[in-house]
Amino acid sequence: MKQYDYIVIGGGSGGIASANRAGMYGQKVLLIEGNQLGGTCVNVGCVPKKVMWQASEMLEMIRRDAPSYGIDAEIKEFDFAELVARREKYIHFLHTAYQRGLDSNHVEVIRGYTQFIDKETVAVGEEHFTAPNILIATGGRPGKLQIPGGEYAKDSNDFFRLTEKPKRMVVLGAGYIAVEFSGLAQQMGIEVAWAYRNERPLRAFDEMLGRNLVEMYKEAGIEVYPQYVAERIEKNGEDYMVFFENGSTLSADFVLFAGGRIPNTDGFGLENTGVELDERGFIKVDRYQNTTAQGIYAVGDVIGKLDLTPVAIAAGRRLSERLFNGKDLYLDYEMVPTVLFSHPPIATIGLSEEKARALYPEEELKIYRSRFTPMYFALNEYRQKCEMKLVCLGKEEKIIGLHGIGVGVDEMLQGFAVAIKMGATKADFDNTVAIHPTGAEEFVTMR
Ligand code: FAD
Ligand code: NDP
Repeated sequence: MKQYDYIVIGGGSGGIASANRAGMYGQKVLLIEGNQLGGTCVNVGCVPKKVMWQASEMLEMIRRDAPSYGIDAEIKEFDFAELVARREKYIHFLHTAYQRGLDSNHVEVIRGYTQFIDKETVAVGEEHFTAPNILIATGGRPGKLQIPGGEYAKDSNDFFRLTEKPKRMVVLGAGYIAVEFSGLAQQMGIEVAWAYRNERPLRAFDEMLGRNLVEMYKEAGIEVYPQYVAERIEKNGEDYMVFFENGSTLSADFVLFAGGRIPNTDGFGLENTGVELDERGFIKVDRYQNTTAQGIYAVGDVIGKLDLTPVAIAAGRRLSERLFNGKDLYLDYEMVPTVLFSHPPIATIGLSEEKARALYPEEELKIYRSRFTPMYFALNEYRQKCEMKLVCLGKEEKIIGLHGIGVGVDEMLQGFAVAIKMGATKADFDNTVAIHPTGAEEFVTMR
């Protein structure tokens, strides 16, 4: 039996970050990964998604916007297979970069799926390893559509396996992945029909974001079907037919279901540890990432708080700072900025107007809005709007929510998030001299 100071299960965003930080403090660390280093984000998440989004933004820019600047550009060919090959080569490069990082921090890496023997011992195949501190960072996987024929629906992992573009896609879902994949697929020349079961998508976010997005997606040619609840899927030759409760049908050669993810907590002996799950099946942790079993911790998607890479990384690093560097650190899960890579992107932090209204009296809140045509579209007949909103609280108008949809908002949010995290007020925004001409200046000039 090999003895370590720290065993990390899962070499994704959270696991790698925590293992490296522990290694930096001279701990003897073992990282166990069943698949490829980098986890969801690198292999089937943020990284391939952003590559596809960037490609689709370029296609959109050349087709839709270049002519308005007098540029007579023509896309002679968009080679999907070539893009996928280049994307995968980049991902392979990231695997080697992660390995180098782990090597430099003396983190030992073992490939294989772990089984817990007891709360200090794990097995990979026949080999046993023990440590007083074990981190579970096993992430999650796409949820399945539980209807007859649901097995015909593909998920985001399947999309990244494609080397040939589908002709037509039906997208089922109303969150991040449905929004991002509908947009990028449409711009890549795939016909997209997007169906969601409620009256609006992105219900967890400020209402104006989903409302604008739907309008813009319709303008881009996406067929949008609100209040469509899928009841079964049938295979019909090369195509799949989705039947909805309202009697309608939609068919496509690729049906994507994106209805949330489920945690990887099954099949690796958690029952031998005393680690408890919550009612949704995620690992229960306190604010220090302690599970209910002494010496076992959990970070990232497996705890189901905020499924975002920087969140998993921040929690993993803070945990190692606490365990191995004596710092009383934990991650504050409030005011975490996030971007949806839609077309155009969405950037959001803090409370939506609806949530703020549910929490605070009317007189405590002040909402600022701006809706304008970004200068990027000034010469275009197509005048896509950008909409922004600030949700402010109390006499001092502390900013408790900032939301935007429009060209460039993805790169605007990070800096504003720093200010908001520091407690910025509307007066602080007003006191900041604008940068002209940008879209971002609207956030500091709202009346
Ligand atoms: P993961 O990265 O999933 O890593 C878990 C690792 O554990 C995996 O490598 C897995 O193989 C391994 N594992 C599981 N079980 C075992 C076992 N028993 N033994 C050994 N190894 C095991 N987030 C963003 O911030 N920005 C984005 O743009 C973004 N885009 C996304 C796009 C898509 C399509 C998806 C699906 C997700 C996206 N995310 C994005 C979310 C982000 O990928 C996750 O929040 C992040 O990867 C979570 O990190 P993690 O360490 O918790 O888990
Ligand atoms: P999300 O949680 O974002 O959205 C899923 C939505 O789909 C639900 O809110 C629900 O909306 C709808 N839904 C759920 N079940 C069904 C069903 N049976 N039929 C139809 N619709 C259903 O999940 P995703 O899978 O889109 O993404 C998973 C997570 O990955 C995200 O939450 C995010 O944290 C992360 N991610 C982050 C990205 C980023 O940072 N840019 C990009 C991609 C993923 P409703 O109840 O309104 O129908």
